[in-house]
Amino acid sequence: MSIDQGRKGLRFAVIGAGMAGILAAIRLRQAGEDFTVFEKAGRLGGTWRENRYPGLTCDVPAHAYTYSFEPYAEWDAYYAKGGEIQTYFEKTAEKYGIMPHVRFDSEVVSTVWDEGAGVWRLGLITGEEVEAEVVIAASGVLHHPKLPDIEGLDSFEGQAFHSARWQDDALVDGARVGVVGNGSTGVQIVTALSKRASKLVHFQRSPQWIMPVPYFQYSEEEKEAFRRDPALIEDIRNNKEYWDSIFRFTHAITDTHGPEIAAIEQICLDNLENSIRDPELREKLRPNYRAACKRLIYSWSYYDAVQSPNVEVERNRIARVEAKGVRMEDGRLHELDTLVLATGFHADRFIRPTTVLGRGGVSLDDIWSVRPTAYYAVTIPGFPNFFMLNGPTGPVGNFSLIDIAEKQWAYVDQLIDLLRSGEARTIEPSADAHADYEERRIAAARTTIFGSGCNSWYLDATGVPASWPWSYEAFADAMAAPVLTDYRVEAAAELVER
Ligand code: NAP
Repeated sequence: MSIDQGRKGLRFAVIGAGMAGILAAIRLRQAGEDFTVFEKAGRLGGTWRENRYPGLTCDVPAHAYTYSFEPYAEWDAYYAKGGEIQTYFEKTAEKYGIMPHVRFDSEVVSTVWDEGAGVWRLGLITGEEVEAEVVIAASGVLHHPKLPDIEGLDSFEGQAFHSARWQDDALVDGARVGVVGNGSTGVQIVTALSKRASKLVHFQRSPQWIMPVPYFQYSEEEKEAFRRDPALIEDIRNNKEYWDSIFRFTHAITDTHGPEIAAIEQICLDNLENSIRDPELREKLRPNYRAACKRLIYSWSYYDAVQSPNVEVERNRIARVEAKGVRMEDGRLHELDTLVLATGFHADRFIRPTTVLGRGGVSLDDIWSVRPTAYYAVTIPGFPNFFMLNGPTGPVGNFSLIDIAEKQWAYVDQLIDLLRSGEARTIEPSADAHADYEERRIAAARTTIFGSGCNSWYLDATGVPASWPWSYEAFADAMAAPVLTDYRVEAAAELVER
């Protein structure tokens, strides 16, 4: 069968119109494929649509947080604001002709493999059923808000809400505000609100490692130069210092006693010593676990913000929330008008709550009962023609997930080629190959900095780091070409081990 004949009749369902879904859609459109993107919301953008809190910024340099094929001259500063990123994705989707392919308000509630027909049957929230030979699950990672188990939250008389559910009418200007949580989100919110609230309390259960980073605006002249000559943007993307910092970070993750992690710890400790004047506050902010065990906080202004006279860092434990505010275990009450819960996400959901049933009606929920997993973060045995972008066990950390998704797409595209060419009717990893990958991954993950003894969303329910445990270079190598002998390919009539 020729490639053209093979391609005919292949239908693709992309689940999610966030960064990774838009990427898949662009690539599928460029390849002339028949595809539809199913988006649960009324607008694309994923995490950049959902998060609208004050101070929302991407702490990956703006020019690195773009698709490699779509440089953007309009970034206002070295780090982009959330709204700018949302605009970038909307413009990009428009430019690449994706919008007519997106079905909004069309949450996929189930996707079930039909063995006989060799198709996935997708059930939509609208009640419709659609079929596709190939599913691309690009449904994101951090999109199910995790509320804290703090007693009395419902009794609060002011407004209390999760950071990803920002309330536009929330009292913050000149008001008394509490922020629970000091991950990347809580730190960004506190930094922004320090200039607006009359009293701001930052409730911190564990202190954070704060990496100082440069921040500057791009002038109109610079933007004009970027417009005229995109090579200038490429120079920024390839900046040696930036890439050195990425390699330093990924080596630090995998070599917990190496020079890279020592350098990161020293930079952060120097930042603490040199920035925080009051010794008592300095001790409150001093981390008591290894740097990069939780996601490093990149900030150029948080330490300034917490030294504002209207800001208090609270390290005592919260006893409960009451009508008037937050009561500490030592009996003090912080009276508040607004309480922001920057308490993170259920990071183990991935495509769920969508019901996914593979060969023999086996449920992804069952396969993932201990921990979510996928062979090289992309494919799952028993789930043919099902490909994940930013799926479980992929790299996480202080780098661009766009770059990760692009590398994953390059890998997925090579598998799809076997379907396009007609060489394969279905493709999935063998159970043995997946088991071997997962065994090696878990062993390596336990030795990474993520497993060095702190609590974070990087850990699965059993306490094992859930992420890619090897270097960036190893990930790039793995994604460059799938090991096809690890895949089971079903030709038109038979299943063959390659
Ligand atoms: P997070 O990193 O999971 O942090 C949650 C925070 O809430 C932690 O400080 C945690 O304290 C605290 N917390 C949770 N339950 C609590 C409770 N019951 N009582 C007191 N404190 C509680 O969540 P996040 O800050 O939303 O960030 C999640 C991820 O989103 C980041 O790691 C990053 O990947 C992404 N993100 C990226 C950017 C960016 O600029 N690129 C910005 C924001 C978010 P403990 O540490 O003590 O558990």
